[in-house]
Amino acid sequence: MCGFVGMIAHEPVAGQLLLALQAIQHRGQDAAGVATREGGRFNMVKDLGLIAQAVPTGALRHLGGRSGIAHVRYPTAGEISTREDAQPFMTRFPGIILAHNGNVTNVPELIEDLRSEGHHVLSRCDAEPLLLVLAQELIRRRPSRHTTKDLVEAVAAVFRRVRGAYSVVAILEIDGQETLVAFRDPHGVRPGVYGHDGQGAWMAASESVALDVAGFTRMGDLPPGEVLLLRRGEEPVRLAVQRPTPRPCVFERIYFARPDSVMEDGRVNRTRWRLGRQLAVEWARKGLSADIIVPIPDTSRPAAWAMAEALKIKHREGFIKNRYTGRTFIMPDQKARQATLRLKLNPIREFFEGQRVILVDDSIVRGTTMRRIVSMVRELNPLALHVAIISPAVRHPCFYGIDMPSQEELAAAAYPLEKVEEAMARRLGADSVTYLSDESLRAVAGEGICAACFDGDYVVPVSEAEREAIRWERRGRGR
Ligand code: SF4
Repeated sequence: MCGFVGMIAHEPVAGQLLLALQAIQHRGQDAAGVATREGGRFNMVKDLGLIAQAVPTGALRHLGGRSGIAHVRYPTAGEISTREDAQPFMTRFPGIILAHNGNVTNVPELIEDLRSEGHHVLSRCDAEPLLLVLAQELIRRRPSRHTTKDLVEAVAAVFRRVRGAYSVVAILEIDGQETLVAFRDPHGVRPGVYGHDGQGAWMAASESVALDVAGFTRMGDLPPGEVLLLRRGEEPVRLAVQRPTPRPCVFERIYFARPDSVMEDGRVNRTRWRLGRQLAVEWARKGLSADIIVPIPDTSRPAAWAMAEALKIKHREGFIKNRYTGRTFIMPDQKARQATLRLKLNPIREFFEGQRVILVDDSIVRGTTMRRIVSMVRELNPLALHVAIISPAVRHPCFYGIDMPSQEELAAAAYPLEKVEEAMARRLGADSVTYLSDESLRAVAGEGICAACFDGDYVVPVSEAEREAIRWERRGRGR
């Protein structure tokens, strides 16, 4: 889970890049960076922390240039705490700045390939081997003065060699012109959009909200399997590289993306609303009844409102979220852990006491937080406590860029699918658990989606060795 913004304009870009990046801070809080191209020179500032910590306002003085890339990082591979792993990355030969969102699954193989030709990977971030493969493939075609044809062939080689899911932005010189290049793997698993300001500037970003805040108009999603060339004052050039077979990540729309973003041609908020309506149908089929619907903030709110409307049950904001707690320490005992949860999410007693309640959430991963929420609400003496989830049960890990624990740690993976609701209700201490069915999910999001964390159908096969390497990385971070 990461977020990027790339921009090319007639004016210096650093200020607007950082403004747009703030809109997608939710995509990564561990590190941030910005790099610009000024004449033939590159400038870069990156560090650990939130954008404001990693790129202080004073740094803007050193970030001249009319093209650049900014990035926020939430690592799915690599060390969690080194500045060297923050993006963007750059190469001097040829001069490229690059950042991506996604997960490369065959990093060890790429590192070995690159080393055999004298290219050394210095960080533990998968963007670096991706960048080096692109640079290597460009140089193989011509040492410098790369053409559009060279670029298309190099990206085709990246698609062949670099496995996994990735959306990429890069700044480099193509046909002698400074160019913002964007490409998205043929399955388009990770999101990406592009747009213009009507005055010759172009932007590509992980989510459309980045374009909104900078005053840009969205033109569309980055096309899977294509490379896009964006140059100031010119129309975009779209070039097909590999036949697209789009399978965008549905979890983005369920949980990760901002509700005001437009993704795969639909507003995320609307998708969540429709998921809630479908869930209401499935909940009603069970013949249960309730007095009040309460979302777990923030993601599930539109779905909870839609459920309430469909079921004709009142809805209330039953939890107040404290947005200023930051990271809390791991607490040693149950009482302390409950206190920590209350600090983050405090329930309003009247909405639960003596009520038959439906708690609505986007997903259950480990189940630890939901178990604590259920236990906290139980103390308020509700008459009944039901849990409704706007996605199917998460039973498989993600290898394509969303940070998830290994299969053994996924709560729902411990039970056969036909028993999962009953077993999870027992595990959480709820009166019932209702997951959205796979059919309902597809009725809302369509058939052409990645839903591998629900159904185990991985669009890019992940070998046992690759799975083990990713598991090891995640274990290494204690996640
Ligand atoms: S496995 Fe799940 S989280 Fe990962 S890309 Fe696919 S839908 Fe998204």
